[in-house]
Amino acid sequence: MPDKTIHFKLITPEKIVFEDDVEAVYAQGTKGSFGILPNHIAFMSTLAIDTAKVVKNGEEIIFSIMGGALQFKNNEAIILTEAAENGQDIDTARAKLAKERAEAKIGSAQTQRDIQLANAALAKAMARLKAASRQ
Ligand code: ATP
Repeated sequence: MPDKTIHFKLITPEKIVFEDDVEAVYAQGTKGSFGILPNHIAFMSTLAIDTAKVVKNGEEIIFSIMGGALQFKNNEAIILTEAAENGQDIDTARAKLAKERAEAKIGSAQTQRDIQLANAALAKAMARLKAASRQ
């Protein structure tokens, strides 16, 4: 009989942020957004600095995802990413400050490298604010 759930693991270098059986996984790949339901074929994608969402017992849980990759095989989905947070655990004030700092750095950047770093920091702060606002 086909499985009805996906075993989902969200892993950073620090910890396992989330691990459980879920009904669906949605994420933002670097080439576009995608969704995975149980019994999908094996799949792999690099991830954008954005959000990912799982559905567990009919409820959505949203995470901020700082890039990385997702692998799906045999009804197991693993995201490896530099940092990730459950939207409900995000410190919104901290993310707003990080956004302001990044915007100021973009304004005063002298080199392409400075601009790249500031844009990445801005994308991270925006992903956190997006995940937090959808709780
Ligand atoms: P900041 O400039 O606010 O420190 P950052 O983008 O430099 O943010 P990271 O290096 O990506 O932070 O993350 C460091 C640690 O802090 C990680 O464990 C990450 O999950 C956590 N973290 C970062 N920002 C937040 C936030 N707004 N709310 C909760 N945890 C956060």
